Amino acid sequence: MSGPRRRRGLDTDRWAFQPLAWEQDGLPTWAYGFALRGLLTRRQMRAEDLAPGGALPVAQVVWTHKRHEVRARLWDRADLVAKRVSSPAQLVAVGLALAARRWCPECRRDVGYCIRTSLGCCVRHDPDLFTDPDPDVSVVPALPGVLEEVSRAA
Ligand SMILES: [Zn+2]
Repeated sequence: MSGPRRRRGLDTDRWAFQPLAWEQDGLPTWAYGFALRGLLTRRQMRAEDLAPGGALPVAQVVWTHKRHEVRARLWDRADLVAKRVSSPAQLVAVGLALAARRWCPECRRDVGYCIRTSLGCCVRHDPDLFTDPDPDVSVVPALPGVLEEVSRAA
């Protein structure tokens, strides 16, 4: 374990005296499994559809994993706000924006992947990217079938 560890406890502003806490990185700190109830990690917060809403972490948990110190910041549930939910219009707008990135202006269709902005069209139109080493065994005719499957699956 690294960092200052004083087992004498810590006087905190929020929770008065905490016999198992110490101060580290300017935060009240507990060992894994010893933090107060009502404090949430990021993942716990997201699991409850909560978000920081600008609130800063108020404490942390510190433990050791493979000889490295690991820290989890903790937020006070009372400080958190409800996670924002996308409106249907926002989801439609994101879907359209992503569809626009998959659109090849040369083929005039959705090619099933985001086209490179450096090309401006799908890889079929770039001889460097879409090489055909053996003219008798062309890979070009196979591609439309693949793209049809991709667009059918989408
Ligand atoms: Zn194309």
